[in-house]
Amino acid sequence: ESKARGAGNYHFFTDRLQAQLIHGLETEKELRHALRKQEFELYYQPQIDLETEAIVGLEALIRWNRPDGQVMSPAVFIPVAVRSGLIVPMGQWVIEAACQQIQLWERAGIHIPVSVNVSPRQLKYQGFLDQVLQCTRHYQIRPGMLELELTEEALIENGFSHSDTLTSLRKSGIRIAIDDFGTGYSSMRYLREFPLDRIKIDKSFVSEDGVKGLREPAITHSIISLAQGLNLTVVAEGVETREQKRQLQRQNCRVCQGFLYYKPLRVDELEPILREQGISNKNNGSR
Ligand code: C2E
Ligand code: MG
Ligand code: MG
Ligand code: MG
Repeated sequence: ESKARGAGNYHFFTDRLQAQLIHGLETEKELRHALRKQEFELYYQPQIDLETEAIVGLEALIRWNRPDGQVMSPAVFIPVAVRSGLIVPMGQWVIEAACQQIQLWERAGIHIPVSVNVSPRQLKYQGFLDQVLQCTRHYQIRPGMLELELTEEALIENGFSHSDTLTSLRKSGIRIAIDDFGTGYSSMRYLREFPLDRIKIDKSFVSEDGVKGLREPAITHSIISLAQGLNLTVVAEGVETREQKRQLQRQNCRVCQGFLYYKPLRVDELEPILREQGISNKNNGSR
């Protein structure tokens, strides 16, 4: 693009690049500050069993409450956190906050498993396994109540060397899910190499603005069959319409997550919903 506009535009291009860089650095500084000041908050999006329509899990999604009152999306600040390495302490905060919340809910009689997103960079960090295990011990997290969502990139980076870490995590009762399935370097190999519990179908296969049905029904169908054959539970992300829900039910998808049911909610918005649904099913969290 810049070439087509001629060499004279390099000046403009460099300025913009520099502005982006400075912006990134500023945000990084702000993020460090925000972590100290506890400006982050976990929202939770319910996951729905397509057979019973009951809430069977929650995905924790981080938000940044800026001092100016804005709520910033992770799509904006997670990449900065990853670039700067700050994702390691930030990710640790997320796991700790989720475990603490699980314990608070358990004590209030609400038994619901929580999924947490883990970036590839966190998984690579040497102390990751110990930190997670220490945290689940500290908050007395029962097996099956905490799930880690990893992307295909996270699994494949370092040529399968995370296999031991994941095996240890799973032995301790933590569930492992593949997030955004089908968008990374999908490899059938890691489906048997890694100990997995669930596959999350990426929302780009499920929904698209202005489309009522599934965007890629053949792909969702194939992923669901594959998962069934491997004895893994499937979660469809980004379910926005009734028609998508109906099609996923016909394809035997077990669980879905999307704006059709709930957007990510703050704890105070979520708790009345959980109480109303009487979430106390002891089967929640079992494999
Ligand atoms: P993700 O893990 O794939 O999370 C699902 C995203 O889809 C969330 O965006 C959620 O709000 C959104 N979503 C849910 N239902 C629908 C729907 O029906 N339609 C559409 N269009 N979108 C829907 P969010 O919260 O903005 O998070 C974006 C991404 O940021 C996440 O994608 C995840 O990769 C990352 N992220 C969020 N929280 C964390 C975190 O605590 N740690 C790390 N490492 N990454 C996080
Ligand atoms: Mg996720
Ligand atoms: Mg996803
Ligand atoms: Mg994603």
